[in-house]
Amino acid sequence: MARLLASPAGNGAVGGGTRAGDPARRGRRRGLAVSALATPSSGGLSARPGNGTGRPRFGIRARLFLAFVAVATLSVVACALGWLSYDRLGGTLDEFAESHLPALGVAAKLAEEGGAIIATAPILAGSRTEDEMDAIRDALGRRLSTLRALTGAIEGGVPGLRPVVDSLGRNLAALDGTVRQRLALARRNQEAIERLRWLHADFLDEIDPLVADARFNIQSALATVESGKPSADAVRILREENRRSEALLQIGANGNLAVGLVARAATLATAELLDDNAGFLDETADRLQRDLTALAGWADGVSLRQLVGQLLDLARGADGSVPALRREELETAARGQALLAENRDIVARLNGLIARQVQAVEQDSRAAAARSAGAVAFGRSALLASALVSLLVAVLVAWLYVNRNLISRLTRLGDAARAIAAGDLKADIPLGGGDELSDMAAALLVFRDTAIAVEEANAQAIIDNAQAGLAITDAQGVIEFVNPLAAALIAPPPGVREGEAGEAGRLADRLDAEAAARLAAFFVQAPFAQVPDGAGGPAPTLSILATGRRPDGGAVPVQVGVRPFWRRQRQRFIVTLTDMTERLEAQHVLERTVQERTTDLRATNDRLERAIAEHQRTERELREAQAELVQAGKLAALGQLAAGVGHELNQPLAAIRSYAHNGRKLIGLGRVEEAEGNLGKIADLTARMANITNHLKRFARRPDSRLGAVELAPVIQGALSLFGNRLREEAVAVELALPDADPASGTPLRVRAEEVRLEQVLVNLLSNALDAVAGAPVRRILIRAELVEDGEEGGAVRIEVRDSGSGIAADPVAQIFDPFFTTKPVGTGLGLGLSISYNIVRDFGGVLSVAESGPDGTAFVLTLTRA
Ligand code: ADP
Repeated sequence: MARLLASPAGNGAVGGGTRAGDPARRGRRRGLAVSALATPSSGGLSARPGNGTGRPRFGIRARLFLAFVAVATLSVVACALGWLSYDRLGGTLDEFAESHLPALGVAAKLAEEGGAIIATAPILAGSRTEDEMDAIRDALGRRLSTLRALTGAIEGGVPGLRPVVDSLGRNLAALDGTVRQRLALARRNQEAIERLRWLHADFLDEIDPLVADARFNIQSALATVESGKPSADAVRILREENRRSEALLQIGANGNLAVGLVARAATLATAELLDDNAGFLDETADRLQRDLTALAGWADGVSLRQLVGQLLDLARGADGSVPALRREELETAARGQALLAENRDIVARLNGLIARQVQAVEQDSRAAAARSAGAVAFGRSALLASALVSLLVAVLVAWLYVNRNLISRLTRLGDAARAIAAGDLKADIPLGGGDELSDMAAALLVFRDTAIAVEEANAQAIIDNAQAGLAITDAQGVIEFVNPLAAALIAPPPGVREGEAGEAGRLADRLDAEAAARLAAFFVQAPFAQVPDGAGGPAPTLSILATGRRPDGGAVPVQVGVRPFWRRQRQRFIVTLTDMTERLEAQHVLERTVQERTTDLRATNDRLERAIAEHQRTERELREAQAELVQAGKLAALGQLAAGVGHELNQPLAAIRSYAHNGRKLIGLGRVEEAEGNLGKIADLTARMANITNHLKRFARRPDSRLGAVELAPVIQGALSLFGNRLREEAVAVELALPDADPASGTPLRVRAEEVRLEQVLVNLLSNALDAVAGAPVRRILIRAELVEDGEEGGAVRIEVRDSGSGIAADPVAQIFDPFFTTKPVGTGLGLGLSISYNIVRDFGGVLSVAESGPDGTAFVLTLTRA
């Protein structure tokens, strides 16, 4: 048979429904094969997979690598800049440490040494002794050599320093020489003064005797003259001695003056004073000289003449005289002062040079510090700038490339992959980019194409092998594909081959006229809105029974189901065709069978309805009988109770009789008040009797069928009161254990029941208990009621009636609840009591059971719902 269904992706007939970017087509256009992309290369610079050219490609790896290299390069640049600026800073600091700091130190030392020389030089100039001078000169020499060494250290740095230091050395040497000379002169002066002192002493020693001699000689001559015997000799002697004496006195005076002037000259401070002094001294010396001539030739005056000659030498000798020495000393001192002034000038020059040097060093240092600061500032700015640029590059890469390009494409690719995995084979796959991601996208495309191909192949296989007739039509109902089973049901008209049918290719034309009309009406509604599977309502479907055509031309009943579906955005219809021949036959057989069965059933049903009506009637009668039975049982119990009740009534009756008799007597005696008391007692007793009869009446009446909340204690008391007489007569002890009140609500304990019927049950149980203890050695009945929390809402009330009888004489025990079961002698028991009680309790929704039975007695338990 012909295959009408071609792959929609590759079939031109599919036409306009396919999107322009149909991925299957794209995949084929690009010639991508699954195998070609099975192992896509992930290398950024590797050969582009599938392009076959081996051309290196600028992929993600290369781009990210480049971005990281750029950022890393910027970091390296930042490091290099930092290193450079630190290097510059280090250089400047080294320079500072190696050159400026020592220069500053040298300059400071120079200044210190200069200052010390200035301070020491005047001390040298004014030194008093040679020792002192030597010490000062040594100190100065050391300072000078230090100065020289320092000058050597910074030579080249300070021009003109060495000559200044040299001239300072010369000046100090000259100063030293001057001082030395001055000291020598002072020493000589001192020696001359010493000599002068000795000379003066000798002079005085010499002149005084001479004057005394002269005076004696004059005295002697005068004596001679006065004696009157003047001789020429004596006059001559007198004249001679007088002249000599005068000369001596003159010499003595002038000598003393000369000594004084010489001694004064030794201490005079200026040349002018010396000159003045020298004038006086010259005059005095001249006078001495003249006086000496008067003594010329005098033998005794030789020593004196010599002494005066020596004195004159000391006074005005060209060499070695005291004034000359003093003058020379003063001149030396003046030279020393000049040298000192020169020394100060030199040191001042030195200081000026040092100050300039210090200034220069300071300037250099400041410049070096400024350079350091500049290097630091530059390094800081450069580091900041490169860090900012790195950050900018990193942000740009992360935002523009990684986030906006890579991540968004990866997200879209992931979405597409998820959609394809979820079965949406139309999902859009982002292909652009020319990198590893586009390779992935291409691989995904191939994967999707393969999935589509596999899906189509699977669908084809399923349709071909389906055990039902399947056909696919387009939106207009033109058959695109039929599988073998369908072909056997909707064969084309005779003479037309499948696939060449033309108009006969329409599904409607292969079916009977009525079906064709319904199909045409259905297809008119197309296109239907696309409803995803499981979403919205069911897709519109058509299901009709039609008549098809077998390949041999025979008619065949066919069930035709038509349902739209969408493939690649286009609507088509899948048609299921089922051969109904066998099914229709089976249906006919079935219908017949059903008809027969229905008739049978109806008869059975009628019979059943009749039986049910019968049953209901019987049940109604039974219910009535049971009610009667209950009543009968109660009346039977009443009958049994009647004797007791009669006895119960007898007692008050006798009392009433006695009170009435006494009353009459008392009235007769006029004791009306006492008679009134008796009447009151009679009234009480009649009320008690009325109570008993009322209770009996109430017990005898037909019970109410409705249930309600019944207070338990009065019902138990009422039942017991019916047995008051019997209990007393048979000496049966009754023990009552009833809770005072319902612990939950605080109200008296109530159960869900009907009062009369509940009392009837209790009367039955008590009556049986009394019968059971009748012959027993211990006669005791216990009635106990308690609340049982059974988990249900409200809980239950458990009423136990226990006797001390000899137990139940029945096996099994449960048969005591059977109607008419009794072990009591005929006339005493009917065997209905427990049976009726059991049913009453069941009607209350409760349970009556034997809890215990043995030689020590029997316990019945009545469990009722708590009200
Ligand atoms: P009846 O009392 O008329 O026999 P019941 O149905 O009340 O009918 O009792 C059935 C039988 O159950 C009694 O005959 C007796 O044998 C036995 N029975 C009932 N209560 C007791 C009891 N407390 N102790 C021993 N036997 C009992």
